[in-house]
Amino acid sequence: MKPNLLRHVFLQGLMFLDVHGFRAIIKSSPTLRSVSIHNCELLHFGATKELIEVVRCENEDRNAHQIQELEFDFYPRYYQGPLHGSLGCYGVVWSDEGFLDTTRAVVAALLTVIPLARSAGIDLLRPGKSFRLWLDKLPFKHRTLPYILDAILRIDDFLHGSSRAMAPTTRDTLLMTLWADIIIMMNGVSMSEATLVKIQTPKDLSSNWLLTCCVCLAPLPSIFFRSDIAARDSDTRICHGCQLFAYLNGEGHNYNSLHMKRHAASTLWDHGKIETVQQLFDPNGELYENGEPRFVVEARLASDAIARRRAYGIPRELVQAQEEFDELKKQDRTRAFGSNEITKLLDQAETRIQAIKAELGVAQIAPGTEAQPRAPAATSWQDNIRWYMSTVDEERGRLKVVGPYAGVVTKASAVKSAFW
Ligand SMILES: [Zn+2]
Repeated sequence: MKPNLLRHVFLQGLMFLDVHGFRAIIKSSPTLRSVSIHNCELLHFGATKELIEVVRCENEDRNAHQIQELEFDFYPRYYQGPLHGSLGCYGVVWSDEGFLDTTRAVVAALLTVIPLARSAGIDLLRPGKSFRLWLDKLPFKHRTLPYILDAILRIDDFLHGSSRAMAPTTRDTLLMTLWADIIIMMNGVSMSEATLVKIQTPKDLSSNWLLTCCVCLAPLPSIFFRSDIAARDSDTRICHGCQLFAYLNGEGHNYNSLHMKRHAASTLWDHGKIETVQQLFDPNGELYENGEPRFVVEARLASDAIARRRAYGIPRELVQAQEEFDELKKQDRTRAFGSNEITKLLDQAETRIQAIKAELGVAQIAPGTEAQPRAPAATSWQDNIRWYMSTVDEERGRLKVVGPYAGVVTKASAVKSAFW
């Protein structure tokens, strides 16, 4: 393998490529002109900032040595949902556990991701770029994404340019107007001025209508925070965007054997200590007893362990968990009135079955359980399509909404009552 001869690299659908691996590929290829990552399993939306940072460092280095800058494009892992029994196609996350409004989270994240990419000289939003295509595939309300992106760019330009010499009142008024564009576009339909004012100036908060996230430090309107989190102090207040990144990068989920795959990828690059491909295959480096590089062998063993667990371990656990659940169901039918101990055990068994199926990648985790259901929070394509179709039906006179009735939200009824 001679990475120092590479000019253009397209990394598509790789299972064990992580940020360390990406950095090593770039560092090994001084003549590389462009690199594009497309739908690699471990490189989801949560990895965007780290990848941009890697490219920014590389380009700083290249500029210092007067070498042509590296072009970068990124199509994060897109979560389509399982083939059978899909609960929803969310794109940015694999499951909806009822905790996170993904549309607001993606917009909040873009408010820091886009300025970061721009400062590194990376254009992610130009039509035709993979990142833009990925955003186009997310279930934003029909035809609203271009306006949201436009408003994000204008807010960035405003904050880092024209607003600096303005009086605070003028600056606040103009900024509110820019934010109104994003809020209306996320809503998907027009909103009354009174509703907008209510959103932008919540009564229970101080006069400062922009709240700062303690992680990304972005000043955001309160709708980008969960209501209980918005009331916290500035040291513990975290925005929807950072919650989404924590969810994607955290250890709380194991969809499609994610934990073991992350471990195998980290093993290959020795958690970032191996910095280049040449170093990985260095004949004078650490070798296994068969003469192969130690980390390559260990990564292969980790990969074998994943295959074994998926073929034998997980199916066996699933059968056991299902048997336990069926047994509890039988007891539930004959239980004494007023006892909720079995309901609790049934809940735990159902959660366990969901987790095992998610690890196998054949099912998503539902919001809540049968006994304790939780309302969906993430935006899915199925919801969007239903909303769009009922709007079309209503406009053509095929559906009359004389409501408001729960569960029927169309363009016309949404105008009457805003979602927030
Ligand atoms: Zn944040």
